[in-house]
Amino acid sequence: MTALLYFLVAVVAVGLSVGSFVEDRQDPARQAFLAFGGALALAYVGFSLSLLPGLGAMRLLYLLAGCAVAPTAVWTFDRCFLRDEETTRTPSFVLAGTILVAPACAAAHAWWSDGLSPSPASLLAGVWALATMVVALRRLWNAQQRTHLRIDRARMRWMFGVVTAAVAFTLIEQLGRLLAPVDPSTLSFSSRAVALQGPVPPISAIFAGLSTYFLYHTVVMSRLLDVTELLSRITTVLLSALALVLVDGMTFLWVDTFTVFPFHSTFQILLASILFLAAYDPLRSSIAWWANRAFDRRSYQLDAALDQLERALPTLLEATDLVEAVLDALHASGRASTCSLYLWDPHQDGFVCAGVRGQPAQRPLAVVSAHPFTDRFERGAPWYLVSTIRRRAKHDPQYAEVLALMEAMNAELTFPLMSGQTVLGWLHLADEAWTDGYSAEQILHLQAVSQKASVVLANLESFAALEEQKRLAALGAMSAGLAHEIRNPLAGVKGAAQFLQQDPGLGDESQEMLQIIVDETDRLNEVVSNFLDYARPFELRLAPDPLNDLVERTSALVHAQGLPAGVEATVDLAEALPVVPIDAARMSQVLLNLVRNAIQAMPDGGALGLRTRVGRDRTGRRGIEVLVSDTGTGIDPDVLGRLFVPFFTTKSDGTGLGLAICQRIVQAHGGAIDVATTPGRGTTFLVFLPLPADPPTHTDEEPR
Ligand code: ADP
Repeated sequence: MTALLYFLVAVVAVGLSVGSFVEDRQDPARQAFLAFGGALALAYVGFSLSLLPGLGAMRLLYLLAGCAVAPTAVWTFDRCFLRDEETTRTPSFVLAGTILVAPACAAAHAWWSDGLSPSPASLLAGVWALATMVVALRRLWNAQQRTHLRIDRARMRWMFGVVTAAVAFTLIEQLGRLLAPVDPSTLSFSSRAVALQGPVPPISAIFAGLSTYFLYHTVVMSRLLDVTELLSRITTVLLSALALVLVDGMTFLWVDTFTVFPFHSTFQILLASILFLAAYDPLRSSIAWWANRAFDRRSYQLDAALDQLERALPTLLEATDLVEAVLDALHASGRASTCSLYLWDPHQDGFVCAGVRGQPAQRPLAVVSAHPFTDRFERGAPWYLVSTIRRRAKHDPQYAEVLALMEAMNAELTFPLMSGQTVLGWLHLADEAWTDGYSAEQILHLQAVSQKASVVLANLESFAALEEQKRLAALGAMSAGLAHEIRNPLAGVKGAAQFLQQDPGLGDESQEMLQIIVDETDRLNEVVSNFLDYARPFELRLAPDPLNDLVERTSALVHAQGLPAGVEATVDLAEALPVVPIDAARMSQVLLNLVRNAIQAMPDGGALGLRTRVGRDRTGRRGIEVLVSDTGTGIDPDVLGRLFVPFFTTKSDGTGLGLAICQRIVQAHGGAIDVATTPGRGTTFLVFLPLPADPPTHTDEEPR
């Protein structure tokens, strides 16, 4: 059992340190923690094996790894607690000392190893480990005193206490072994491990395991383990263990012939344990729930609010309901004094703040552009925790940008709302009342609920899009028929008016009236033709026509038609633009329409720009882009959402079909059309056409 305990702590140390390292290999604190976990695990594995018969040679592994435990602890503490102080580096004598002491120990072990415990080598290693551990504890204590937050200081003292206990018990156990040396060759198999451990049981291993667990929390969550949280977990485990002891104890008493039939009786106890565990499994979460409720009230409240939200999510019918439900639940939980939810708005080319709760010191940003905030979410980052981002921002400018945005949005913790690899939005939380941040469990629970909210949101959005599509399809079929019915009589009306115009006996006034009839029927006919263009299904005639040529042709046509006075046109074509198959006639219709709108938006003149380039869309698809820009009136934010709606126009003589047709044509090419505008300063329409057969990629190339 003694050897097993050391071995278990070694497994825990390896599991925690490797687990944290794999999550983020670049983090210096995790690298140091990996070294600490590795050294501790090797030392304990060496020691536990050396307790077993025939494996006394493993003592050398224990000694060598033991020499490295304290130095790696100093290194980890420095990187965890003195992160912000660039001047405080791990003292070089710690490293140099380890390099000197470890071989000296190995030599002493080889020279004086007579099988007796303790040996001079273990004395040397012990003195070295103790001295370095004192350095580690001193640095931890100093860091604790420099911490400004009261709650953090209290926790660091806890950490200090646990590590000190581990060191003190190791010392006591070693002293015990020193004062009562044993000769392992005389020991029986069953008594060897206990005798070699010495008179004091291996309490140090429990504290070493606890210290590793505390450190893990500091490294992974950038926060110290909440003591209440720890208590709640220990209580859960303790209650479960007590219940098992009770059941097994009763079985043991009931089977009172244990010594007579040891095999049968062990089997009965095993059976009772299995039955207990099977029955206990459903009870486990209730026990955890009660312990949580008793010791960690805040977590309990958050869990309860999140559970309730999870139940409500599937009943929501609209995205706005979802925003309200999520924010209300989080705010009511008492664990998010400020929370906000951002959703993608294609018309603003950014994420718009859809709702806020709490009293943020600063209002959150209204619109946030996609990159670089979404970049890491698209690559699989499950959340942004401000303390982690702050640490990484020191070395990585991309993280610095993310940090600046998080601070501007008052966020402490951000979860993405994803649909596949596309970011639909995100959820921010901050809790000003508690400076201790969120625990690992709370973050995981919040993440699970955000994922569910993402699924519901994606379904709601595609449902709304489907409804709209159906409505438009029905309307399209109906109105296409109607348009035909209008065009035929129109032709008759125009023909009749033109016939009457030929009568020489008509006065000037009548001629004028007939001309009005002809002009207006022409206009009406144009509207109907445009509408048919929009409503009628069409097939693209695709051919690999260079987009640059098309833009040049459009520019020449616009110049030939004559630019209004004061409008200057420039064309900027990207070199070596890839060629994609397009329907040149329809794409030219798109460009002419965008150019016409741009010119109309600059009644007093301005700059008209036509530009091509290679770019990526929001999902990471590579493609070619045409940008049509003007320095005209710009577009009001309340109009922006309706630009592509058929018949929406702000012009007295407009049909409101131009942009709707453009969008339809571009979408038929598999592309998208976007707009960026600043009222009073101008507008840019961007037409994106994807490159064929290009799988979605996510590189660090300059995003749009
Ligand atoms: P129409 O030009 O017939 O009004 P469109 O669908 O082409 O129809 O445009 C719809 C509306 O979009 C316009 O009425 C105008 O308000 C707005 N719009 C389009 N392009 C621009 C632009 N470049 N600058 C400002 N507003 C624009």
